[in-house]
Order: sequence, then structure tokens, then C-alpha cells
Amino acid sequence: MRLALKVDVDTYRGLRFGLPRLLDLLGRRRLMASVYVAMGPDNSGRAIRRFFSQKGFTRKMLRGGALRLYGLRTALYGTLLPSPEIARSFPDLLRRVIAEGHELGVHGYDHVYWHDRLASLPEGDVATEIDRALSVFREIIGGDPEGFAAPGWQCSAASVACLDRGPFVYHSSTRGTYPYRPRIDGVEGKLPEIPTTLPTLDELLGLGIGQDDALERIRRSLSEDDLNVLTMHAEVEGGPCLDAFTALVDRLRPTTRFDRLIDVAHELSVARLPVVPVTQGTRPGRAGTVSCQIA
Ligand SMILES: [Zn+2]
Repeated sequence: MRLALKVDVDTYRGLRFGLPRLLDLLGRRRLMASVYVAMGPDNSGRAIRRFFSQKGFTRKMLRGGALRLYGLRTALYGTLLPSPEIARSFPDLLRRVIAEGHELGVHGYDHVYWHDRLASLPEGDVATEIDRALSVFREIIGGDPEGFAAPGWQCSAASVACLDRGPFVYHSSTRGTYPYRPRIDGVEGKLPEIPTTLPTLDELLGLGIGQDDALERIRRSLSEDDLNVLTMHAEVEGGPCLDAFTALVDRLRPTTRFDRLIDVAHELSVARLPVVPVTQGTRPGRAGTVSCQIA
């Protein structure tokens, strides 16, 4: 079985506490993963806006124990508390990701802004977000990233067009079943898109499922024949769910090849990838909509 682990780091707390724990776990087992960090400020507190504007967010907050996962300070960043810089606060941690053989990619600049506003942003504003993220990445790493993972799986015609002009080799910004090139609102992307194929642990927790049962459900969703991509959150799998996640990894290890997404991307023949339309859809346990490959 083939599984690519995609670790999204959305918050200051996730980078500071969650990512080192996940790196320790992966390092002890000599497993490689792809890590995508939000390069700009942590404005998580502003996501509270979703509390008022989206059905299901309150339920997710309560059932998923979002406050326990993300902490009270995180819930106030960008509102009552100033927004701390995520990547710039821990440059050594970003360099550690690469030094230990993992892939380091970009998870946008301002995660909350991209997540909540992308659908209505003109191309110029999207390009500014990507340029800001790239300049932080270059400042810390001294080179360009190869992978981009959209915050909150939010894509638009503008984001696909902007990413095509950047240094990226691929993106992983949708939910779907197999690698493809996206078509959104008449724009056909040139870069390969490697979608997240599995439900995420935080979604299953959001449905009120306990962490052991949730991880068992993820295990049962794995495909024997096709590439599996699991998105993890540094705040979740690297936080209160670390032990349960470790047990899942150990159970899978004997029969699974763990790959980085960049390794998958290098194997793809871009010219032969199918072009598939992308649309907004829902996922059980997740508030709002995400960009989905049409099956
Ligand atoms: Zn994210």
C-alpha cells in the first residue's frame, strides 16, 4: 500500500508544539512526510467569524473540541491578541523539516484570509498572498518550495492561474481520488494536483467519533491499489491525538510505503494527466465547502 502523509501547519501553536512531536515520531521510524506551513500571521481568532456565518461551525467547535485542540490563545489571535508570525517565529523548525529529509512546502500566507476570502479574491490579491508566502520561505530556506497546499482546500480559477506562474512543481489543494490537472471556471491548470484522498481525523472528530474509532475508519478507507493521501494537522495528530496516531502508523508500517508528495509528483507524467473539473463540495464533519475533484 502507498500512503503520502501531508502535514498542514495552520497555527503558531501547531508549529511550536505539534510539528516537533510529529517530526520526532517520524524520525524514530525513519518515515518521510510532506509538511506545509502557513508562512504569515496566525489570525485564527478571526476564523470565529465562521461561527456566525456558517452552519455547522458551532457544532464542529463543540464536538471536535476545537478549543482543546487549538487552545484559548489561538482562538484570540488576530482579535483580542495580536497575530503572531508563524514561520518567522520558528525558522530553525522549518530548516529541521528539510534537514531530516522531509519535504517543506507552503500552506499559504494568511491561512484564515485565504480560507474565508479566496472565492471572491481577484487574481492580483491571490498573487500577493502567494508572493508574500514565497518571500518568507526564501528568507528562511534560501530557495523555492516545490509544493503548495491551499489553506482549507480552497481553490479558484485565480489561484490555479497564479500557482502556474510560480516556482511550484505541483499543488495539493483539493479533495479527490487521483492526481490530475484541474479545470475551474474555464481556467485549465498546468501543474499536477495531488488531492487528499482520505477523510481527516479532525473531520471524524467533528462528527463526534472517538479518536481510536476515527483512526480505524481512516485505516479502513485506505486503498490497496491507488495512491492514498492523508492530510494531518500539526495541532491534532501532533497534539492530543498523537498516541492514537502513532498506533495507526505502527499498524500500517509493515505493509505500507510512505512517500512524500514531491516524490509522487516527480513520477507523474504531466502531459498524460487527465484534466478534471473542480467544484465546491462538502465533507462530513467539516464546516463550509472545500474544492473537490469531480469523480
Ligand atoms: Zn490548513
